[in-house]
Amino acid sequence: MTSAEKLCLACGLCCDGTLFGHVKLGPGDNPKRLKALGVPVAVSRAKVPVTHFRQPCAALCADRTCRIYADRPRQCRTFECGVFKDATAGRIAFNAALREVKKARRKADDVRRLLRALGDTEEHRSLSERFRRTQQRMEAGRVDATTADTFAELSVAMHTFELLAYEKLHTRADAA
Ligand code: SF4
Ligand code: SF4
Repeated sequence: MTSAEKLCLACGLCCDGTLFGHVKLGPGDNPKRLKALGVPVAVSRAKVPVTHFRQPCAALCADRTCRIYADRPRQCRTFECGVFKDATAGRIAFNAALREVKKARRKADDVRRLLRALGDTEEHRSLSERFRRTQQRMEAGRVDATTADTFAELSVAMHTFELLAYEKLHTRADAA
């Protein structure tokens, strides 16, 4: 196994709903084939419909391998996060890259812990969607002081994670 493969298997953040809410399909991708492989491909109802599937990805295995690796869509084949790019280009050592992705995982886990503390156990949704839904729930009703404190903690944890993701993991191309 290459160092790059080890890095991604220690991470999985671009597949498990932490960095992205969905994977867009495009030219060259085969929605029918993906559906046959058990990936729930859907078409959005937006003005310009987008064929996509949601994350956390149904093809992501517990050991963070991709069950449909040979058939994965273009977005998956082409995405490389900033840490991955830096490590494969030799700008940082792979051990340092591993530390970066483990740190990002810990920060995302902080967010998930606080979401659960606020009653959100919807692990099948992406992190950003879970945060948005919890935020709407908090803003819609009266909450006691303890809940308000936990939500404040959650907001800081989410902001901390997003900052780290922006600085270390996203790239200009996928920010669009
Ligand atoms: S976020 Fe980066 S290091 Fe993590 S799995 Fe994706 S490409 Fe690999
Ligand atoms: S299809 Fe494979 S590479 Fe793409 S998001 Fe799912 S698990 Fe990750």
